Amino acid sequence: MTGERPETMRAWVVDEPGPIESGPLSYEEKAVPAPAPGELLVRVSACGVCRTDLHVSEGDLPVHREHVTPGHMVVGLVVALGDDVTEYAVGERVGVAWLRYVDGTCRFCRRGNENLCPNSLYTGWDVDGGYAEYTTVPAAFAYRLGFDMSDVELAPLLCAGIIGYRALLRASVPEHGRLGLYGFGDSAHLCAQVAIAQGATVHALTRGDRARRLALELGAASAAGAYDSPPEPLDSAILFAPVGDLVPVAMRALDRGGILSVAGIHLSDVPNLNYERELFYERELRSVTSNTRHDGREFLELAARYQVRARTHVYPMAQALQALQDLKAGRFEGAAVLVYE
Ligand SMILES: [Zn+2]
Ligand SMILES: [Zn+2]
Repeated sequence: MTGERPETMRAWVVDEPGPIESGPLSYEEKAVPAPAPGELLVRVSACGVCRTDLHVSEGDLPVHREHVTPGHMVVGLVVALGDDVTEYAVGERVGVAWLRYVDGTCRFCRRGNENLCPNSLYTGWDVDGGYAEYTTVPAAFAYRLGFDMSDVELAPLLCAGIIGYRALLRASVPEHGRLGLYGFGDSAHLCAQVAIAQGATVHALTRGDRARRLALELGAASAAGAYDSPPEPLDSAILFAPVGDLVPVAMRALDRGGILSVAGIHLSDVPNLNYERELFYERELRSVTSNTRHDGREFLELAARYQVRARTHVYPMAQALQALQDLKAGRFEGAAVLVYE
């Protein structure tokens, strides 16, 4: 290993998954991790708060690692290198995202779908993430962040942005197509900016006046309630809200040949679909699973080119629990970001 590292740090850990209101996480003193061969040790400066962190903390996702430290939208500086790292240097700004490992050899990896790798590992679920002063990342899964954006602006791009972009790709919006976004939080408001820059007409369908106002400010053509009908049939739709009840609603809003892409990692049960009203005319329902590193790099370049800017809500790292509670209660628009001063 080259570089310096202190012995201990403060880090949030999930003690026992449960309702976020009951405080299932605590902020503890832990050993600073040592970077394994091929890994970077990163001093965290900003970490975005993702709905997946809420699912990990509340137990909607099964425990993969006891007392895990959540957080997978990390921006920080490389402070030490594990053995065999040649492509990064101490002092570089990097991003740490959700996808942390794939085997590279399975049928999915070999055909370019590493997001489907059955042996994949995830930051802040299988391995400790960025709600901490320090975290590690395999160099092969880090993102170089040489963009003219602040740490706080960049953090939400690393999951909310990348996953929203994958969902947009899966929605196959035709040129100048009509795109409906169901739910308008961290991921949707970044996805909307890319879709609009690429020529789509965006309709936001979401609860909450503030979210609808934000959608209109960002250039959406209309904003209405999640269960309302959009003003015109949709070529494509993305379901960001983790609400299965909205699947038939969105399917009915699709035009012939339309595609609904479901962005979340967790969705409440989908009610029965009526074949004639909700699927016939070659309408398609697609899920979105994680992302490839190619998606991530492509999105970050587009975000820089289109000047995609996250609406951020900043909390000191010590208030991570509050940030998760506020996310669940819908107390802010855009993306929460935890920072070390
Ligand atoms: Zn694989
Ligand atoms: Zn995430």
